[in-house]
Amino acid sequence: MCDHFPLYRGNLEYFCLGCDARFDINELLYTCPTCGSVLLLEDKNFSLLGRKSGKEWQEIFDGRAACKIDALRGIFRFYELIAPVLDEEDIIYLGEGNTPIIKANQELQKEIGLRFAIKNEGQNPSASFKDRGMACAFSYLQALARRHNREEILTICASTGDTSASAALYASYLGGAVKSVVLLPQGKVTPQQLGQPLGNGATVIELPGVFDDCMKVVENLSRNYRVALLNSKNAWRILGQESYAYELAGWRNWDMRKLCVFVPIGNAGNITAILNGFLKLRALDIIDGLPRIFGVQSAHADPIFQYYNRGRDFAPVQVRPSVAQAAMIGNPVSFPRVRRLVELYCRRYVPQAGEKAFQVVQVTEQEIMDCMLMANRHGHIVCTQGGETLAGLRVALRHALIGPDEFAVLNSTAHALKFAGFQQLYFEDAFPPEYEITPGRDLKNAPLSIFSADRKASLPEEEYIEQAARAVAATLGLKSR
Ligand SMILES: *Cc1c(COP(=O)(O)O)cnc(C)c1O
Ligand SMILES: [Zn+2]
Repeated sequence: MCDHFPLYRGNLEYFCLGCDARFDINELLYTCPTCGSVLLLEDKNFSLLGRKSGKEWQEIFDGRAACKIDALRGIFRFYELIAPVLDEEDIIYLGEGNTPIIKANQELQKEIGLRFAIKNEGQNPSASFKDRGMACAFSYLQALARRHNREEILTICASTGDTSASAALYASYLGGAVKSVVLLPQGKVTPQQLGQPLGNGATVIELPGVFDDCMKVVENLSRNYRVALLNSKNAWRILGQESYAYELAGWRNWDMRKLCVFVPIGNAGNITAILNGFLKLRALDIIDGLPRIFGVQSAHADPIFQYYNRGRDFAPVQVRPSVAQAAMIGNPVSFPRVRRLVELYCRRYVPQAGEKAFQVVQVTEQEIMDCMLMANRHGHIVCTQGGETLAGLRVALRHALIGPDEFAVLNSTAHALKFAGFQQLYFEDAFPPEYEITPGRDLKNAPLSIFSADRKASLPEEEYIEQAARAVAATLGLKSR
């Protein structure tokens, strides 16, 4: 049942992961004014939600799946767990969330050697999971603007492509006083991702360097000028992205046994949100155990893999070109959040024999491309980062980190079409050597040219149809009727 907007209101505040200081949410903060560390948002009233049983919450969230109130159709179906300080009129809904989870078919499961499904985050409005976070961040901005009569809001972000596509989309929907500026590393986003903010009318600024360089420029701007930063440093985005965990838990009918969740890690905002999301569900007994989480990184951009597997000493890495370009980040802003939440997560997790609550696996560029194509040859629409999670599953199986009775859900964070250029490089065997990718013969594909334009020009139309049909039939080896 869902016939009214929720009455519950939380009491949110920022808390600092460096010095534990707490701050009011009447101002948009990105980092701690005292010590400079990243922040997270916490609801001081959260324990009041425990007055309802886990079962009651399950029923509420399940019931809202059929809700007729626009504000509750997307990520705010889980309103009480996300940003329960917003009013109905603050909430922006562009169709984000509720992305499908598609089980791999028999053939693919057999090839991989485990039962698994893929959650298609590419089916969000700007074709990546970033929309979950933007829906929350923009709703909060709208609330701020309304309450403080702010006349103009300039939003700004650095991006590996999808953050800017998403920010530009939401800003253009709000229109009026909200303007969007995006900073992109020149030549390091795909043409599709560049076209998105341009099409939505954002101001697009290209800077030389990689994402990490753009991020530093944006941080400088947000320190010194009146701009609203929309990178995942913005804790409101994390809240929105928690909805991934809520939807996934609901899809499993709130039963987390034998579930392994695979997530690609770039700036580490997404994995932060997913960890926090499951922890909140657990705290309210909406789920009675935690799933296992596998972070996945390419060997070309793997600082968090290095941290968890090479001695717990964090150091940024110099990235090398990666087809998982949206995750090609050497100094992830959310690393302190991950470290904190992983500790909590592991403490709350009740392990079975040999199981670990959280781990990070490393994959090669070759495996990422091979896995993306393999998945898509079996009816999926995964992006390169989705390919990365499938590659991660294979590595986990190879190293026996996952058992035959477990079930994996892979996060395909964007739509395959955004990364069509990498597929093209694979098919044409044209990757620059730094990528270290050689196409597999079985996975290559190319259009067949079987009839020249000159030959067509020399023929009357009916004759052309006849001859072209014959050429197609010969190519396919068709038998006549
Ligand atoms: C942003 C992004 C990532 C990385 O997510 P983080 O939150 O930065 O770790 C992965 N895949 C896609 C498609 C993205 O857009
Ligand atoms: Zn601090």
